Amino acid sequence: MKHLKAFEDALTSIRDEGRYRVFVDLHRHRGRFPKATARFEDGEREITVWCSNDYLGMGQDDDVLTGMHEAIDSFGAGSGGTRNISGTTRFHVELENELADLHGKSGALLFTSGYVANDATLSTLGKILPGLIIYSDELNHASMIEGIRRSGADRRIFRHNDVEHLRALIENDDADRPKLIAFESVYSMDGDIGPIEAFCDLADEFNALTYLDEVHAVGMYGEEGAGVAQREGLMDRIDIIEGTLGKAFGVMGGYIAAHESVIDAIRSMASGFIFTTSTCPVMAAGALNSIRKLRGEEGRRLRVDHQAKAALLKEKFRKAGLPVMDSVTHIVPLLVGDPEKCKALSDTLLFDFGIYVQPINYPTVPRGTERLRFTPGPVHDEAMMDELVSAILAVWKQLGLEQAA
Ligand code: PMP
Repeated sequence: MKHLKAFEDALTSIRDEGRYRVFVDLHRHRGRFPKATARFEDGEREITVWCSNDYLGMGQDDDVLTGMHEAIDSFGAGSGGTRNISGTTRFHVELENELADLHGKSGALLFTSGYVANDATLSTLGKILPGLIIYSDELNHASMIEGIRRSGADRRIFRHNDVEHLRALIENDDADRPKLIAFESVYSMDGDIGPIEAFCDLADEFNALTYLDEVHAVGMYGEEGAGVAQREGLMDRIDIIEGTLGKAFGVMGGYIAAHESVIDAIRSMASGFIFTTSTCPVMAAGALNSIRKLRGEEGRRLRVDHQAKAALLKEKFRKAGLPVMDSVTHIVPLLVGDPEKCKALSDTLLFDFGIYVQPINYPTVPRGTERLRFTPGPVHDEAMMDELVSAILAVWKQLGLEQAA
């Protein structure tokens, strides 16, 4: 093959930097999540999954699955086209109406993933607003960074959640230029939450638009699971809310919700929306059932249970002297602080104890803050947690990692 050496060299440097990724080959079984089987070289074994973003187990919910079966039986598999050319179905339209209503906006637009939603929307905003300056939190997700980069807008990166730094940057810029502040609610690697209200206040003061990624919060926070902005009564102060259907909603796809004119402009201009086959109707049907369920009583029950499970696991880690990071959400990161030991801890938990949690290393997190990121949920029971804590303690000692007194 031509240029093979370039590929091999790239792989060598990725390996040398400890960034080579090995995927665990999982088989999830309906009704048994978080138990799953994993395929290894020497055969299959049962494991417990501790790092899924199917936070509430909706990926195996009976109503979601029934909706998907019905859709596939009545409609078939793919949508057969882009949204413009025969790929808009009843399910797409209903789902967009549901999402707009969930977030209290006059419009919503569906994309094939949350990544595409961020990239396509942000990159298009620069074309709609000449002279745009985008202020971006330094820990924003790669999909936002990519969209902002491609927008052609001027970028200013502010320190994570730092309102004063953001203010200083905005004050330094021409007051007449259009501005947009882009940030997240729940940050997925630390489990902290952005100061949404303070950012909205700044946006009002400087006539800036607000763009909020609620990917790790939709389905999970707020009266109807619309996210942290709903919980904090701030939804109407966010101009563009972005979310995913692939995490708490348990299916796949991404979206934005905003004023109908914003939606109409993005729909007409964003190539990541226009030039791609639309989401499978079966996905849209599953997402619709999932959202409707999580907006109601069952959703509220799951959210309470979920928070309780996350609090219980944090408490168990603390009591065991394990360095659980300061998270205020359902994300429970355990600081290891060394890339090799982080990987070794994860490998030993998997191979010796059947516990699956992916190591999180640089560049996903800064060097020296390598961690394991646990996402306990309603599907995890206390016995699983006790098993987890004792397994971690055993390996923690083996690896010579420090423990709190
Ligand atoms: N935003 C954030 C903050 C994310 O963590 C992710 C994915 N992990 C995305 C956007 C992309 O969402 P999706 O997985 O639906 O592409």
